[in-house]
Amino acid sequence: MIVQKFGGTSVKSAARINNVAGIISDAARAGPVVAVVSAMGDTTDYLLKLSKQISPKPPARELDALLATGEQISIALVAMALNQMGARAISLTGSQLGILTESVHSAARIVDINTDRITRYLDEGLVVVAAGFQGVSSEGHVTTLGRGGSDTTAVALAAALGAETCDIYTDVNGVYSADPNMVATARLLDRISYEEMLEMARVGAQVLHPRAVELARKNRLRVRVRNTFDRNNTGTLLTGAGEMEIYRPVSGVVLDRDQARLAIFKAPDQPGVAGLIFGALAERRIGVDMIIQAFHEDRSVNDITFTVRRDDAQSAFEALEAAAKELSAEGVSVDEDVAKVSIVGAGLMDRPDVASKMFTALGRAGINIKMISTSEIRISAIVSEKDAERAVKVIHDLFHLDE
Ligand code: ADP
Ligand code: ASP
Ligand code: MG
Repeated sequence: MIVQKFGGTSVKSAARINNVAGIISDAARAGPVVAVVSAMGDTTDYLLKLSKQISPKPPARELDALLATGEQISIALVAMALNQMGARAISLTGSQLGILTESVHSAARIVDINTDRITRYLDEGLVVVAAGFQGVSSEGHVTTLGRGGSDTTAVALAAALGAETCDIYTDVNGVYSADPNMVATARLLDRISYEEMLEMARVGAQVLHPRAVELARKNRLRVRVRNTFDRNNTGTLLTGAGEMEIYRPVSGVVLDRDQARLAIFKAPDQPGVAGLIFGALAERRIGVDMIIQAFHEDRSVNDITFTVRRDDAQSAFEALEAAAKELSAEGVSVDEDVAKVSIVGAGLMDRPDVASKMFTALGRAGINIKMISTSEIRISAIVSEKDAERAVKVIHDLFHLDE
């Protein structure tokens, strides 16, 4: 059994849907297939924009009900295309697939998948065309899994069905050393470890959804990223770290523009201050990424700087202003013209020289680093948005990632 997933650009038009149906029907000749599809092209963005024209803050339940329709259009069309080609197929929405999620809207996690209905159709020899990105809560409400969540649907279905392989078909040949649409010399990686891919996905490499990679790692699933428009390309295989002996210090460079930096100045240096500030953000369900606390010379006050997603910047700023008042802090600031540049590589672990090389190269290129954070296999720097793309290229060249 195989699970295939086709992203938005792969099903953007009728002609592309026919191309995708060709790939699915070829696979269906060899064995059972579940094909997960995303909404056509920019449909999800369009639906989001449409909702904003009606209401700046629509009820979360209704927003999910709206966004889920994008995938429902494409599954029906893909199933039609398959039937037209003589391959028997049936389309199923999230709830029809038995994908049960938490009762949370816009970023629900999958709790359980009841595969009975899918297996019944597969046993009858049908291709199951599954709507990505959606599920149903125990109360019966339509939920969505977060932007890019169709990857997660595919990997979760593959794990639940015990599929041999999960092929993620997209608009590039696989996972590269950097976004190939930004860095012309980016190199296609034939393999990448789950850990590195997870880190790359978390810091903004769009090609796979982080939760899809987490699930793949947990289930040791054979996930391949491949090109819908070049079927002969074998793409990139996600593998366990143990299967790769030699690591380069850096495997990839990732840019995330979806960042904003906030700061509160001269907040009192007392127990409970960070709790108050970040509690106020958590109340608004705002996720915080990097956090830096710096002390002043007189030691009675601190500056706290942190980053959030750009969409959350204004709401975070309001929360921070209120906190500043309560704490009698000197002031607050927000900067939305920043981006995060990260390098990822399992080989970073025992290479203290890599960070200094990266910072030196950025400095030589006249690129100012505003914040830094690290994990065992990642180094991230916040820079000005205007410098971000150049920073990626400088780092890509520095570590010869094209070779
Ligand atoms: P889909 O609609 O198929 O889910 P996405 O747009 O979500 O496709 O993801 C594919 C895109 O990810 C590519 O077009 C590419 O621009 C971007 N991308 C970012 N970083 C990388 C990378 N390291 N390797 C490959 N693609 C990347
Ligand atoms: N259509 C959804 C989105 O645009 C899910 C996906 O494509 O993975 O985010
Ligand atoms: Mg995607």
